[in-house]
Formats: sequence, structure tokens, C-alpha cells
Amino acid sequence: MKDQNKLKLTFHGGTGSVTGANFLLEGEGKRILVDCGLFQGGDFAEDQNKKPFPYDPASIDILFITHAHLDHIGRIPKLVKEGFKGVIYSTPATMEITEISLVDSMGVLAKEAKRKGIEPLYDREDVKRTMALWKSIKYKEQIDISDNLKAVFKDAGHILGSAIIEFKHNGRKVVFTGDLGNSPAPLLRDTEVVKDADFMVIESVYGDRNHEAVEERTQRLRDAIESTINKGGALLIPAFSIERTQVLLYEINNLVEGGKIPKVPVFLDSPLAIKVTKVYQDRIQNFNKGVKDEIAGGDDIFKFPLLEFTEHHQESINIADTPNPKIIIAGSGMSNGGRIIHHEKRHLPDPNSTLLIVGYQAAGSLGRKLVDGAKEVDIMGQRVQVRAQVINLTGYSAHKDSDGLIEFVDDSAETLKKVFVVMGEQKSALFLVQRLRDYVGVNAIAPKLGESFEL
Ligand SMILES: [Zn+2]
Repeated sequence: MKDQNKLKLTFHGGTGSVTGANFLLEGEGKRILVDCGLFQGGDFAEDQNKKPFPYDPASIDILFITHAHLDHIGRIPKLVKEGFKGVIYSTPATMEITEISLVDSMGVLAKEAKRKGIEPLYDREDVKRTMALWKSIKYKEQIDISDNLKAVFKDAGHILGSAIIEFKHNGRKVVFTGDLGNSPAPLLRDTEVVKDADFMVIESVYGDRNHEAVEERTQRLRDAIESTINKGGALLIPAFSIERTQVLLYEINNLVEGGKIPKVPVFLDSPLAIKVTKVYQDRIQNFNKGVKDEIAGGDDIFKFPLLEFTEHHQESINIADTPNPKIIIAGSGMSNGGRIIHHEKRHLPDPNSTLLIVGYQAAGSLGRKLVDGAKEVDIMGQRVQVRAQVINLTGYSAHKDSDGLIEFVDDSAETLKKVFVVMGEQKSALFLVQRLRDYVGVNAIAPKLGESFEL
């Protein structure tokens, strides 16, 4: 490094795409990574994941993890397999959910490897070695990297354990937002305010769009459940296992216990989501005050009449024997695989059934095709007619929308020297770049893959 007072930041992933977060920060004689995520969506992404890292994993001292979504953690075991021996820092909940997610994803990786006749990205031994390097750090606890370089986690409010990472170096602040929550969220605390940032690396999943109002989403969920029950159909909800599923359980819990919807069988048909829900039950200290009060008042927020957790394969198959109406929550969240596609194959041709989309659907995914109005789709090699109603509820997004992102940056408007917009599709990132320049008056750019900057 030329100037010892400066840090060098290189973008090794998460540019021009929502996935593959991987940022290298160098300075003070240290090489630090922030996130090491999987590229997701299509064959191109799969090829990207197999490529060697553009740096020597053995040369990295520290890996910071913002949160436990696969596009932020999915390549860590590969990093370890290829020589990384440093320390990994995250919040305790992120550490716990990461281990569950990595073990769960091995099944998918092994299947894919077998199909293509290649070696899986990593195996259980690599996950074990990964977890041995992990050290959990609480929010607000300072990590001393060197005399002049410190780091701290702040609550991002995105999923349980999610963090914004603030690095302080020679009186300047460099902020990695990770993914930012759609506050106020039903379960989690609001995103912490960040002031006085000099440099910011910010996500832009919804950089070009705003969500519907928070109040409307519960009403629309209630309407979708009621109309499907009245028609005698099945309500399918493809849901991400972390956060979205728990939010849905919490909301349906309130609707059922408040007598606002009739009692019908509700299945949580995802082994991963069931395991993650248990982590949520154990970590209520991370919830917002309103929810903590409800729990203190005696409500088990993830439990209500006729709710069934179907962990085992046979239990999942047996769901078909339960007559309609019923509600099925299953992964994967973008219908790329998982148990939801079996339910979709069965119920999408039924005009009385409903598919309720509650999260971001990546380009190329089955979920995206359904949201875009496809009348016929391919599921497990079979043409399936789509006659069910498809409803898109954007209010349940776990990400800030365009206005929310602008507000977040605006809190540091006075001090910001540069904002790097990442983790969004090209169109979304560029739209946010333009809005940040126009409305906040900051120097914003969308960096390219492999590009470096002196901070
Ligand atoms: Zn995320």
C-alpha cells in the first residue's frame, strides 16, 4: 500500500447483482474481508462460485459477516477449504443460523455436484473447520483490529442477528450496511441510525422501488387467506426460512388468536425454517419491545391451533391428504427448489388456490416467472398450467425500499465522501446512485467487479 493512512477497498462480488457479497478491505498491515457469499440464480452464478478466489485465502486475517443469508455466507467453507485460517466475526445469532444454513445447503450442493459429475463446493468437514474459526461478538462491542483500526456491529434490523459493520480508522468511519431491514419490522428492532460515515458500502436490492405501506400488508395477507378459504383452495406461501417465515407465523398467530380468520390447518413445511424458528424462540432479546411485551404477557408467538411443523419427508407428503382449505408455508423463497415446488405442481392448476409471493424474486427464478404472470411453467420437467391466483405482497420485504435507503444515507450526508452502491441488479443500483446524487447530494457510484478504491 502506498499511503499507510489510507485503506484500500476492492469489490470482489455483489456488483451488478444482488448476490455474492465479498469485499476486501486492506490497511494497517491487515487484509480483511466483509462477507463471503454465494452467487445465486442460474448457471452463470454456479460457475462463478466454482472459480478460485481472486486473492489468496491464506493471506486473509479476518472475515467479518454481516448476516446469515447464503448470498453473504455461502462461500465461507470454500474459503476455509482453500486456505483461510484467520478469525471470523459475527453476532451470536448470525453464527448460530449460519451453521444451520451451511449444513442445510450441503444437501443441495451434493445433489448438484452428482448431477454434473463434479466435486461439491464444500463438505461437512469444511463446515466444521469453518465454525471452529468463528467468534461471536455482541452488538456495540468493540473489536480492536489494530491501534488505529476498530470495528463494531450495529443492528441492521434485516434478519435475526443482522449487522451493519462500522470500521473506524484514523478518525474516519467506513460503513458496510450488509442488508438493511424494512423498519418498523414486526419482530425485530429498527435499523440503528449511522451518523458521520465517511465512506459507505450500501445494498440496493430495492434501490429503484418503494414498498406498499406496512398497514396494508397485514390486511392483504388477511384478505388472501380469507378469499382462499372461501373458495376452498390451498394458500401456498414460498417463504425464505430466515425471518420471513417467522414473521408470517407471527402475523398468522395474531390473526388466528384475534379471531380475524377462521382456523384452518397451517403447515410449516421446511426442515430449515423449523430449525431457524427454534433459534428465534431462543433469542427473544433481539426482538422489538412490542413483541417482547407480548411474549412476557404469555403469548407463544410461533404457536397457534392447527399449526403443524412437518419436518420429515413423509409428513410433507402427507400434507396432500389434508383436505382444503389449508395454508402451506415452504421453501425455497424463490421457488428454485425445496418442498414448495411439489405443492406448486399440485395446486397451481387449481383456480381456487392462491400463490402468495412475499419476498424478492431474482431474475430467472420460477418465482419471478410466476410474479411476471406466466400462464404455464416448467416444474421438475413437467409443464404446469397456472390457474391459481398469484398475489405479490411487497410489504413483507425484509429490505429497505428506495426511500428508506435514501433516508439511511441522509443521516451521514454532511460527512460522506463516497457511497458505493452494491447488492442490487444493475438497474436498481444505478437508479439509487442517481437518486443519492440528486436528493442527498453525495458522491455515489456503482463499482464494477474487481474495482479498487483508496479510502
Ligand atoms: Zn440478506
